[in-house]
Amino acid sequence: MSQAANANLFFRLFDGLDDPNRIAIETQGGRHISYGELIARAGQIANVLVSRGVKVGDRVAVQVEKSVENLVLYLATVRAGAVYLPLNTAYTLNELDYFITDSEPSLVVCDPAKAEGIAAIAAKVKAKVETLGPNGKGSLTDAADQASPVFETVARGNDDLAAILYTSGTTGRSKGAMLSHDNLASNSKTLVDYWRFTDKDVLIHALPIYHTHGLFVASNVTLFARAAMIFLPRLDPDLIIKLMARSTVLMGVPTFYTRLLQNPALSKETTRHMRLFVSGSAPLLADTHREWSARTGHAVLERYGMTETNMNTSNPYDGERVPGAVGYPLPGISVRVTDPETGKEVARENIGMIEVKGPNVFKGYWRMPEKTKSEFRDDGFFITGDLGKIDDKGYVHILGRGKDLVISGGFNVYPKEIESEIDAMPGVVESAVIGVPHADFGEGVTAVVVCHRDAGVSEASVLQGLDGRLAKFKMPKRVFIVDELPRNTMGKVQKNVLREAYKDIYAK
Ligand code: AMP
Repeated sequence: MSQAANANLFFRLFDGLDDPNRIAIETQGGRHISYGELIARAGQIANVLVSRGVKVGDRVAVQVEKSVENLVLYLATVRAGAVYLPLNTAYTLNELDYFITDSEPSLVVCDPAKAEGIAAIAAKVKAKVETLGPNGKGSLTDAADQASPVFETVARGNDDLAAILYTSGTTGRSKGAMLSHDNLASNSKTLVDYWRFTDKDVLIHALPIYHTHGLFVASNVTLFARAAMIFLPRLDPDLIIKLMARSTVLMGVPTFYTRLLQNPALSKETTRHMRLFVSGSAPLLADTHREWSARTGHAVLERYGMTETNMNTSNPYDGERVPGAVGYPLPGISVRVTDPETGKEVARENIGMIEVKGPNVFKGYWRMPEKTKSEFRDDGFFITGDLGKIDDKGYVHILGRGKDLVISGGFNVYPKEIESEIDAMPGVVESAVIGVPHADFGEGVTAVVVCHRDAGVSEASVLQGLDGRLAKFKMPKRVFIVDELPRNTMGKVQKNVLREAYKDIYAK
């Protein structure tokens, strides 16, 4: 394959770089890394990977804290034609055992503190182990310091794998989503155009980089645009507001926006230099959207995607950014809503299963051909597992995961509809509606509600507020007031945890 035809994501990311001195990443500690340095460092690490026996198509499993070197390791792996496999830093050794034995990497890179435990697991699949600490130092970078920065980017085709990301697996075994070079490159390029990224942009990057949001959306989009990003280890509202004075874009999960809103320093003045606030990975409450607009004068741009598909839809850059909606299908991507039983497309405004087709959609689940087959329609659409609708104006709305649908007395109850009613009540911060086993109804609709302190919200007041607004079969049988909802690191409410906590409440 000629270099011109090289579909390797790394090649495409940096093809035509005109100014190697341009800054790509700035760290909290004040380090500035140029595009040229990033490429050279990726060359050194790619050489180390090859010297450790990593071959084209091999998996490199990585569980390390976020650092510039961590991002470089991703770039180097892709550059060497291997498959990058990031793992959530919260996973325990017990959990890592599954991921490592399932994916059979030839190399595992981990935090020095975990090296001993991981070595025992890696030995089972004959994988080598290198270390990389939160400070960007470890056996991997020690070796890279001695290696040549020159490395010929391995030629790859569009459909060859660049990464495997395991899904969060809240309902069963976590599955490895296989993403190709073109899945990643095409989606990032689309987002650069759709969100008008240029080399003048400075992105505040406070997301983890083991997940599609921080790794692919935030990092790839920035690099494709030759923009700069400020790498922060985590959400730090005071610091982020300070950085807004010289930044242009923030990408966050909804928790970022609720936490920033709690900060008195957030204002029109402090966000004046910013041009875009993007939210995704979990639903942004319509209230949060409105409050953000009122406080800052910026409408948050909400988008929708998933590990398996990269980004599918986005609210428009210029048109109306509708609170509670995730916008239009991105260019080149088809989205349809179907009847979950028959698979037939439903009319606009009707609720059903969201299905997606396009160059963004993954190649299947790692070593799960049957599972992969069952999640695709014959005409190539991927069944996302998300319930939703497309409204009259063409905006997509997400009503939650199909598995979170409550079936009570034989009727479908969409949690989002009830949550929206409860969330709109005075004194309520947010809510989660779940189905809990019920002897008479199959599942009993149950609401878990977070309210403002001393707001006087109670089970009785919530039920009273819903009375007459919802059909009887949708009415919660019980309402529980709690201090907070359980969330994972991407800000998603863990309904499985709630279902487990309340599983016995209707037991006779
Ligand atoms: P993940 O694979 O971890 O990125 O999770 C993907 C899932 O997150 C999707 O299937 C949706 O259920 C949910 N999700 C992502 N973005 C949004 C959004 N903007 N609104 C509602 N749900 C979302």
